[in-house]
Amino acid sequence: MCIFCQIVKGEIPSNKVLEDDDFLCFHDINPAAPVHLLVIPKEHIEKFQDVSGEMMAKMTPFIQKVAQLMELDENGYRLITNNGRDGGQEVGHLHFHILGGTRLAWHRFDDAHPKESL
Ligand code: 5GP
Ligand code: ZN
Repeated sequence: MCIFCQIVKGEIPSNKVLEDDDFLCFHDINPAAPVHLLVIPKEHIEKFQDVSGEMMAKMTPFIQKVAQLMELDENGYRLITNNGRDGGQEVGHLHFHILGGTRLAWHRFDDAHPKESL
């Protein structure tokens, strides 16, 4: 079973922020910002490319509720999902990073060599 499925089952502890029947939000173990949360579906879905529109439609208000709860809604936050190998996804269970609590920098990616056609 994947590490996030184990968190859903309570087999691995996590610092939970919000939970409902379908989703769980908890603090990232290795924060990259003052506030760094992960939102996951309880169902094992590997990555964004595999998720249904229906699931995403339900996840949207959940994420918005988390942002309100953590008082990120007014000043803003960044929402990221790393999808698959080239996206840098390390845990193979769909998750959205919510990053906030400071004015985040926006880096160019070192390996960004735009294709000629773009
Ligand atoms: P990815 O690189 O797949 O987009 O992000 C995986 C994230 O999961 C990383 O930010 C990493 O710190 C976090 N993470 C990995 N294992 C655990 C864990 O056991 N508990 C928590 N809370 N976060 C984890
Ligand atoms: Zn899983």
